[in-house]
Amino acid sequence: MSTPLGIENISTILVIGAGTMGRQIAMTAALAGYATTIQDISEDGLAGARAELEGWAAGRVAKGKLDEETAAAALGALTYNTDLEASAANADFVIEAATERLDIKTQIFERLGKIAPAHAILATNSSTLGSSKVAGATGRADRVCNMHFFNPALVMKCVEVVRHETTSDATVETTMELARRLGKEPVLINREIPGFVANRLMGAVRREALFLADAGVASIEDIDTTARTALGYPMGPFALMDLVGLDVVNFIDQATYAETGAAEDAPNQRIAALVAEGKLGRKSGAGFYDYK
Ligand code: NAD
Repeated sequence: MSTPLGIENISTILVIGAGTMGRQIAMTAALAGYATTIQDISEDGLAGARAELEGWAAGRVAKGKLDEETAAAALGALTYNTDLEASAANADFVIEAATERLDIKTQIFERLGKIAPAHAILATNSSTLGSSKVAGATGRADRVCNMHFFNPALVMKCVEVVRHETTSDATVETTMELARRLGKEPVLINREIPGFVANRLMGAVRREALFLADAGVASIEDIDTTARTALGYPMGPFALMDLVGLDVVNFIDQATYAETGAAEDAPNQRIAALVAEGKLGRKSGAGFYDYK
């Protein structure tokens, strides 16, 4: 059994998936000084990521929030590649942020188990799949865990590090410390549970907000206002669901319900109906609120 590298020896990071999360996780790593590769099967996805990150960096520099040298160094530390084998060959730490499908992730982790250096930790950013679901495919389950960033990953401080039954202490320590070096405030989740901690807390607030709205107690606008003005939330639960995407919320609810079977986890009918109408939140121009 190999052990993961201590944090001091980690210099190259591979992020798999150049979507919403992967591109920002990669930029976070590059800004922290890590040589970072973003791998995606889609050339367009990689081109979109590059354009967005270059635009983001230029915007930060223009606003005086990032100095030009740091921005150039971070952009220079990023490599874009469609080839997983080439990308993983010298990775010290892998963060998988590909499409939320178990078959896709299992295949990626199986390949990583064969091609990534033996010392490499293989982490998944999945919101719903505990890493135990893919760990077995790698042949190094002790070096597999969840490293769950929040959207937008360049901004949000929380990273949930979730261990499964055979994740080693060394893997947990290195992953927690890496998160700190990326400027995050990691929290350790000692065992897998659907939704981990943050989404479970959010789920409880969301369920109550939906109950209050469905019961006609208050409008969604007033419930959101209450969350902001009385509880200090930056955004109310309905506005947040629109931001995350109602399809994503619905998908997470379905996955949680499939796993727990608990009545309180049953997907909300109001959300399901909005999704069926194509109202997915901000990205489609309408959800609980209208954005057109
Ligand atoms: P996304 O749809 O924006 O991006 C997924 C990317 O994965 C796409 O670019 C796609 O081309 C790529 N991909 C698909 N199959 C691949 C493969 N075999 N190899 C390499 N790349 C592949 O998805 P996202 O929202 O960035 O979510 C990615 C992961 O992050 C999911 O596991 C999700 O649960 C998790 N997550 C998402 C959020 C969020 O708010 N969107 C927050 C936290 C965690």
